[in-house]
Amino acid sequence: MTQAAKTTPTSMRRICLDAKQPAAEGINFAAETIGSGGLVAFPTETVYGLGAKAWDASAVDKIFRAKGRPANDPLIVHIASMEQLPAVAREIPGLAYALGRQFWPGALTLVLKKATKIPLNLTAGLDTVAVRVPDHPVALALLMAADAPIAAPSANRFSRPSPTTAQHVLDDLGDAVDVLLDAGKTAIGVESTILSLLDEGPQVLRPGGVSLEALREFIPKLDFRPRLLGEDEAAPAPGSMLKHYSPRARLLVFQGDDDLAVRAAMGAEIERHQNIGLMADDADAAAFCGFNVKIERLGTGDEQAAKRLFAAMRALDEQGVDLIIARAPEKRGLGLAVWDRLLRAAEGSLVEV
Ligand code: AMP
Ligand code: MG
Repeated sequence: MTQAAKTTPTSMRRICLDAKQPAAEGINFAAETIGSGGLVAFPTETVYGLGAKAWDASAVDKIFRAKGRPANDPLIVHIASMEQLPAVAREIPGLAYALGRQFWPGALTLVLKKATKIPLNLTAGLDTVAVRVPDHPVALALLMAADAPIAAPSANRFSRPSPTTAQHVLDDLGDAVDVLLDAGKTAIGVESTILSLLDEGPQVLRPGGVSLEALREFIPKLDFRPRLLGEDEAAPAPGSMLKHYSPRARLLVFQGDDDLAVRAAMGAEIERHQNIGLMADDADAAAFCGFNVKIERLGTGDEQAAKRLFAAMRALDEQGVDLIIARAPEKRGLGLAVWDRLLRAAEGSLVEV
């Protein structure tokens, strides 16, 4: 039997849409699929999501099975607007509304006490729920047409780099998805910032598309303490487990303030290997041009790096490298989210120069 790799599987419907003005016909078909308990992959401004109707426990269960995601890793619920918040959460603090008014639609996920109607498999048995309003015309149109909250984690196989294109979704999930809404590349490229607003006070569970600097306008002392847990330890939120977002190749991250010293260390690593890849910003990419290394450029600045990071991991995997090296960005703005994804993808393998 021949393998029809990476084409649209026959049982799945791929619908191509204009990212700014998605055609109602495609959106309505996807919304009907959600309504009847199916799975729809759709773009958000962060990464592609794998959606099911949040009220439907058996549809939610399909998400876990399609992704190979452990049942103890809760999903994020997407809503069309802040008005829907009381449908999914209870005892909502004023701060949640203030943050919602400022950052929604946008890449900020709030963890709140859950409403009874949210099925327990969605929240991995927790009494809390993670919720956001995505900032993408396709996601918003789908939410409105479906007329229900949609549970949607990233549309990748568990622990793989998150999908920033429809092709990534196809590569990972194939026909486990009923409908794939393809609206091109996602704008931010890393996932949402997750902020817990439970009784112990605001805590950043995952840095992401909304920066800590922006959140500090509302929560001045807000900080992020990375928890790089080993897989055998108990993790409060499995998205914060160590191994995550990983390419197949081993990843090694270099960190240091002295540019020349860091480049020298990276250069030495490149010379030790035959089949090595490099993810680098334009300046470093230029410095290593001509070396025996496969280079994926991350552009210039943290925004471009965030946008290209996961695609670069996947591209180097496709080129079959054994080892990927990268350089840790500064931990500010979107750089903190990039730093976090790199360190998790590297399973903590950090070379301090
Ligand atoms: P994903 O959408 O694939 O980026 O994954 C969603 C992530 O949201 C999970 O891995 C958790 O880290 C986090 N999350 C979802 N629900 C909760 C919750 N109730 N409490 C804490 N974290 C949560
Ligand atoms: Mg994910």
